[in-house]
Order: sequence, then structure tokens, then C-alpha cells
Amino acid sequence: MARIVVTGGAGFLGSHLCRALLDRGDQVVCIDNLITGTTANIEELFGVAGFTFVQHDVSSYVWVPGDVDAIMHFASPASPIDFERIPIQTLKVGSLGTHNCLGLAKAKGATFFLASTSETYGDPLVHPQSETYWGNVNPIGPRGVYDEAKRFAEAITMAYHRHHGIDIRIVRIFNTYGPRMRPDDGRVVSNFVNQALAGEPLTIYGDGHQTRSFCYVDDEVRGFLALLDAEVTGPVNIGNPHEITVAEFARVVLEVTGSASPIEQRPLPVDDPTQRQPDITLARTLLGWEPVVELREGISRTAEWFAKDH
Ligand code: UDP
Repeated sequence: MARIVVTGGAGFLGSHLCRALLDRGDQVVCIDNLITGTTANIEELFGVAGFTFVQHDVSSYVWVPGDVDAIMHFASPASPIDFERIPIQTLKVGSLGTHNCLGLAKAKGATFFLASTSETYGDPLVHPQSETYWGNVNPIGPRGVYDEAKRFAEAITMAYHRHHGIDIRIVRIFNTYGPRMRPDDGRVVSNFVNQALAGEPLTIYGDGHQTRSFCYVDDEVRGFLALLDAEVTGPVNIGNPHEITVAEFARVVLEVTGSASPIEQRPLPVDDPTQRQPDITLARTLLGWEPVVELREGISRTAEWFAKDH
């Protein structure tokens, strides 16, 4: 049993991670400033033994009393519409927030686990993306606030490892979906599923030829735990290599939901990556991990959740 701090624990991924840690008997200190997260995501955890919640912005000095075995730093806006709405907070939590959490890890002698992103690869010129690829990021574009903050976060995490001997993990998370996504987060999965359920047009940005590879949240979180428990320093991709165009994805959503919504084209956002697919050789060989939930099954569960609760 370990005592684990999860920053961003009231967010989409963070809340699933808190649940998974508690389920295996760990204690969880969940920290969130509730800018993009919500207590609704952790409502079911408040009564669970070993769970505590602290409302705090980790971009400011962070302290947790008592022993801590690991800090899993998931706090960050993660949607392109958030990068435009709260760009400075996005930069701060990736940079200052990561620094503060590394300081906590150093003080506690704890493992530091960084939630990084496929966005470190930017609009990738290498396909699929393996961890050895350095990426193609526009530092001054609207997505740069997230991409560069996460790239800085990886750099400072490696520096703390090399300079201070901190035990670290870095996961590069590819597009993940499932229950507890914010219905209004502007991501393609929440938009398409909610549009399909409401009988509204599905909004395809650009020609829909751009690709993504979608991983169901349960698979993703299982990958986080496998990485936490392994002794792997350096980034590891965790994502589903099943690649699909946005136009094909729209057809899948219509089929799974049985919706007759039409398709509508909208302008492509600036610096929207044209292709994305994780090379998960490292995760397969080092962690024995791979995703198991098929896209149609995962979308069906997600649609059911949106239809029921939101
Ligand atoms: N997208 C779309 N319609 C939407 C929302 C997004 O066509 O209503 C596209 C977006 O331009 C991108 C892809 O879907 O090419 C994935 O977008 P998302 O915001 O989910 O995540 P990203 O991978 O870009 O961070």
C-alpha cells in the first residue's frame, strides 16, 4: 500500500486514476484547483477510506503533510479550447506546477510521475510516433502554450532525475476518451457523441482527413499503473495504435449511436496535427501493456454515460 498524491485528481483522467489507485488499496491525496476539473468527478470517492481532497492550484507552492510515496502530476488543461481560454494557466501548471511537484517529490523522497502528452510530437513528421522522435512543435502558435509547457515539464523532470537522483516516470498520453469527459470540452469525442445524441450536425474541422488514435480511459489508466510500478526512466507512449481519420470517426459515432445527424464542415484550427498514432512497442515490451477496448465498444460506453448523466 502506498500514499499517492494525484494533481488534477478531479479531472477526467485524474479522477479515473484516483479510483484505480484506491481500488488496489493505495491512499490518495487528490489536489485540484477545479478550473477544468469538478468535484462531481470525485463525488463517489469522498466516502472511500484513504481518500482526501485538497482544493489548491499547484502552480503555487504545494505541501502535503506526512509520508508520500509518489506524486502523479496530472493537473493541466488538456483541450485546445482551454489553451485559447486559459493560456497562462496552461503554461504555469506545466512549468511552475511541475517544478513545485518535483520539489515535493524531492522533499519526500517520492517517485515523480509526469503526465506528458503526444503533443510533445506536435504536427509529427515521423509516423507512427515513437519515443525517440523529438517532435515538430510551433512554439508561438495557440497550442504552443500546452506543447511547450509539457516539453519543459519533461526537461525539468529529467533534470531533477539527473541532478537530484529523483525516481521518475514520464507517460506520453495520446487521445483518450470515456465517461467524465467534459461535455463542453470541445474535443472531437465529446462534440461528436453529444451532437449525435442531440440530432445536431457533427462538426468536422477541415476536410476530416486528419487522423487520431483513440484510447479508452480504462486501458489508459491501466497503462499508468503499469508504468508507475515499473522501473522505467524516460518517456513511454500510452495510447491505442488504432488510427482513424476524423471523417471515419464521425461515421463510427453515427453508427454506434444510431443517429441520423448530418455532417457539417468547419474551418480547421491553427496547427491542428495532420496525423497521430502511437508506436507502443516500448509499453508492450517493458510493461506488458496494450489496450483491449475496441473503439465501437468504448464509444458505446461513452455515449451511454453522456446520455444518462449529462
Ligand atoms: N475536431 C473536429 N470536430 C470537432 C472537434 C475536433 O473535426 O468538433 C478535430 C480536430 O480538428 C482534430 C481532431 O478532431 O483534428 C481531434 O481534436 P481534439 O480537440 O479532440 O484533440 P487533439 O488531438 O487535436 O488535441
